[in-house]
Amino acid sequence: MSEPLPPALMRVALQRIAEWREQPFEPVLCPVCEAEGLLIADQSARPYAEWYALTCLACGLNATINVPLGPPVPGSDSA
Ligand SMILES: [Zn+2]
Repeated sequence: MSEPLPPALMRVALQRIAEWREQPFEPVLCPVCEAEGLLIADQSARPYAEWYALTCLACGLNATINVPLGPPVPGSDSA
């Protein structure tokens, strides 16, 4: 039962995912209802794409977010 998020919420969701990746042990706020305790499951298929399943128990959000991986930047050395 995964539904696409509207673009405005998608931007928020991507932001929340980025924050979660920085600090995976900090509580994450739901992009929809702003409740604390958003569950994020990394389902990525690297190196092609990153997938995150977002689940919010407060509002019932159940979304899968695709974070496309850009082409490698010349000169960068990503492990
Ligand atoms: Zn929510």
